[in-house]
Amino acid sequence: MPKLVEKIVIANRGEIALRIMRACRELGIKTVAVHSTADRNLMHVKLADESVCIGPSASKDSYLNIPAIISAAEITDAVAIHPGYGFLAENADFSERVQESGFTFIGPSPENIRLMGDKVSAIKAMKEAGVPCVPGSDGPLGEDDNENMRLARKVIGYPVIIKAAAGGGGRGMRVVYSEGSLLGAINMARNEAQAAFGNNKVYMEKFLENPRHIEIQVLGDGKGGAIHLGERDCSMQRRHQKVIEEAPAPGITDKERQHIGKRCVQACKELKYRGAGTFEFLYQDGQFYFIEMNTRIQVEHPVTEMITGVDIVKEQIRIASGFGLSYKQSDIEFKGHAIECRINAEDPVKFTPSPGKIVYYHSPGGSGVRVESHVYSGYDVPPFYDSMIAKLITYGDSRAVAVARMRNALDEIIVDGIKTNIPLHQDIMNDGNFIKGGTNIHYLEKKMELKE
Ligand code: ADP
Repeated sequence: MPKLVEKIVIANRGEIALRIMRACRELGIKTVAVHSTADRNLMHVKLADESVCIGPSASKDSYLNIPAIISAAEITDAVAIHPGYGFLAENADFSERVQESGFTFIGPSPENIRLMGDKVSAIKAMKEAGVPCVPGSDGPLGEDDNENMRLARKVIGYPVIIKAAAGGGGRGMRVVYSEGSLLGAINMARNEAQAAFGNNKVYMEKFLENPRHIEIQVLGDGKGGAIHLGERDCSMQRRHQKVIEEAPAPGITDKERQHIGKRCVQACKELKYRGAGTFEFLYQDGQFYFIEMNTRIQVEHPVTEMITGVDIVKEQIRIASGFGLSYKQSDIEFKGHAIECRINAEDPVKFTPSPGKIVYYHSPGGSGVRVESHVYSGYDVPPFYDSMIAKLITYGDSRAVAVARMRNALDEIIVDGIKTNIPLHQDIMNDGNFIKGGTNIHYLEKKMELKE
């Protein structure tokens, strides 16, 4: 009979560190917070059973410092490491080093992380498993200019998008509308990819002009068992960054959900995928097109939790401890609707970061309101990390109720002392097209351009 891991190092910061710590406490697991010098006052650092300072404020010296994190696990007699999202969460070498040092990595195998970290190999694996992909180059682009031109014109058709195999955060991508700019764009994408990721491998895909971003949450037991938890719609984006997410996706039928969900589950079974993961798709004209898989917990996981009742972080910990999945596919039912707004410390007009002291913070509440946040009155938002300071999640029997509750929550929340994007969220919650549902990934940027 497996036993839950007894002590977990939380190799992250902010709201997700607190989220993981709460799950550990519910399960009776001890926690170790590792933090930078700038993060001594984080909520989870104060609440964890133990804390270890692992380096200075710069992420590369602290949250990305693999030896320091492993040493922290050693000196505190921890048995497992949870990477959260961002930082080292999708670093296959980290997962490998953690395991080689004798600790449990709460996430997928290094092989699976590596496979999905290279989008060219990820797409190949997905195609083989029967997951629908964007029509494209079926592998990295070679040096032959004529062949690349033929591929774009004859095989794929303009417009095309050139993407970095090692890409992330929307970097290293170029859209090409006609042959004249193809070769230059390939070169630029290669240079950008080399500079950003140290890898100049690029590939080509059909550029879909008006897609929605819809993703499927999965859980795998690492032994060939897997389930899906339905989809999330994350189309409300700015510069490829998600701003609002919801589940279920407006207008997606149960038949579509089960069909695409089954394909993802089949892929997980073939990969013997372990832990939580997300298959990201573009969705256009009733078709799903795989773009990438994220091998970690995602920022927007709460909306799925709200409509399924599954605690995804607790499942991650149980799976890593050697338990099977707590649910069969037939146990998963979708009930109601959930929406998440990412509250960022940023100027609502210029979108520049707005770190500094929060002189007063008041959290919203009421029925169907969930707040995931590490901030409090007097907390100083450091300038070194991601600007997200809170996630507001609302739930209701229907989407209309979830939206109404989000409006209330946005009216109630008070964050004094710094600028935030709360006005943007308020604006979206009253936008006629958002209220109808099903807007595409360009909607928010177009709406904002019109206002300027
Ligand atoms: P990253 O890992 O850098 O986030 P993704 O492959 O997830 O890269 O793509 C990021 C975003 O770029 C997508 O959400 C979408 O907005 C846009 N995009 C990517 N591929 C395509 C495509 N084939 N057609 C249209 N837009 C795309």
